[in-house]
Amino acid sequence: MARGSSGTGSGCSFAVFYRYSAITTPIIIPRPEHDLSRANISENAVKVLYRLKAAGFQAYLVGGGVRDLLLGREPKDFDIATDARPDEVRSIFRNCRLIGRRFRLAHVHFGREIIEVATFRSGSEDSEGDRHVENGMILRDNVYGVIGDDVLRRDFTVNALYYNIEDFSVVDYVGGLRDLEQGRLRLIGDPEQRYREDPVRILRALRFACKLGFNIDPACDEPLHRIGHLLGDVPSARIFDELQKLFLTGGALCAFEKLRHYGLFEHLFPMTEESLTHEEQAFPITFVSRGMSNTDDRVSADKPVTPAFLFAVLLWEPVRQLASKLQDDTTGMTEAIREAGDRILAQQQFRVSIPKRFSIPMREIWWLQPRFDSRGGRRAQRFIGHPRFRAAYDFLLLRAESGEVDPALAQWWTQYQEAAGEQGAPMERPAGRSRRRRRRKKAVGKSD
Ligand code: ATP
Ligand code: MG
Repeated sequence: MARGSSGTGSGCSFAVFYRYSAITTPIIIPRPEHDLSRANISENAVKVLYRLKAAGFQAYLVGGGVRDLLLGREPKDFDIATDARPDEVRSIFRNCRLIGRRFRLAHVHFGREIIEVATFRSGSEDSEGDRHVENGMILRDNVYGVIGDDVLRRDFTVNALYYNIEDFSVVDYVGGLRDLEQGRLRLIGDPEQRYREDPVRILRALRFACKLGFNIDPACDEPLHRIGHLLGDVPSARIFDELQKLFLTGGALCAFEKLRHYGLFEHLFPMTEESLTHEEQAFPITFVSRGMSNTDDRVSADKPVTPAFLFAVLLWEPVRQLASKLQDDTTGMTEAIREAGDRILAQQQFRVSIPKRFSIPMREIWWLQPRFDSRGGRRAQRFIGHPRFRAAYDFLLLRAESGEVDPALAQWWTQYQEAAGEQGAPMERPAGRSRRRRRRKKAVGKSD
C-alpha cells in the first residue's frame, strides 16, 4: 500500500509536506477494532470494490460513506478511490461513464444508484497530468498519484478515512478518527490555502458542521470571517448545486444562521442581506428562519422539498421591499411584484444561478400572493384550483406566522379550503385542473 509514501512527518504539520507526496505512515485499524461492516455498505459499492480488486487494482471506500458509517449514520452516497486510471475503470465496467473536466471521474451506474470512482490524485508538481491553477484556485486537477498523495487532496480529516477492501481495515493518514471521535471538523493542510484553492470548501465546512453537529476547528473557523468574497469566484451554477445540499438536507436553519454569523450570507444573497438589515422590524428574519426550519421539518418527515420554494423564501424580502416602492396609482401590487421579482432574480443570477425549472415556479409563488387579498366567492374558488395554489398558500402561512401579514388572512384561507374540501367541490381535483395545467406548461415553455 501507499507506493511512494515518505513515512516522515509529524501529526499536524501537513502544510509543509502538502505540495509533495505522502506525509506520514498511516494508522491502520484492523477489522476487529472498528465497527464499519460491509453489510452496511451498498451492495453495488461492494461489487465495484471487489471488481477493481479482482482486476489487480487497489480499491477503497472513502469520504462520506466511511465517515457516516463510523458515526452510525446512513451515508448519502458511496465514493470509491482507486489506483486504476479513469479509462482503466471504464474498461472494467460496462455500465460506466466518465464525467467531469475539473475532476475526471468514473460513474458506475446501477439503475438509479451511481457509484463514483475517483483515481488517486496527487498534489505533486513532478507528476504528469493536467492541473490548472489560477490565483491559487484549482480550476482543473487531473494529476494522478498514490493513496498517500490522494489523502492530501481531500478537504476535511473526517472525509479522508479509507476503508480497504483488501483486508477490511480503516486507514487514517491525518488524524481523522480522532477528529471524528471528538466531533471536530478540521481541514487537511493550511486552512486558508485550502479555502482559496476551492472556495466551495467554505460552504462544505458549514454543511458538515450543521449535518454532523461538529465544531469547526479554531484554525479553520478563523479565516471564514475574512474570506467570504472568494465565493464570488465560484461559478454561480456550482454555488447553486452546493446551496441545494446545504439547505435541502435537513440543516437549513443552522446553515442560514452560520452563513450570517460568518458574514458569508451577504456574498451569496447581497440583496437579501441588505433588506434584512435595512428593515427595522424583526419579521423578515423571522420569515426566513421559519422558512428554513419548515424545510428542515419536511426533510425529517420525508416530505418533498423544492429549491423553488426555498429560493422564494430567501429572496422574498428584497422583492417585497422593491415591489412596495414600484407600486403606485397606475401599477397594481401584482404587476409591481412581477417587475420586482424579475429585477431581483436578474441580479441574483450573478451569485447563484437558479435554473428556469425552479425560478419560474418561484416567481409564480410571489405573483400569486396578492390574489390572497380577494376573498370573493368565484375568484377564491378558481384560485384554489390553481396548480401552484398549495405552494403559494404555504408561503402565505409563513408570511402570517412571521407577522408580515394579518394572521386572520391565512386563517380565512385555511378555513375556506376546509369548507371547500368538505363540500367536495373545488378542493377535490377540479375537473378543469389537468387541462389547465397542460395549457400553463405550454405557455411556460414558450417563454423559456
Ligand atoms: P456527502 O456525500 O454526505 O455529502 P461527502 O464527504 O461524501 O459528503 P462528496 O461530495 O460525496 O462529500 O465527496 C466525497 C469525498 O470527496 C469527500 O468526502 C472528500 O474527501 C472529497 N471531496 C469532495 N469535494 C471536495 C472538495 N471540494 N475539496 C476536497 N475534497 C473534496
Ligand atoms: Mg459522498
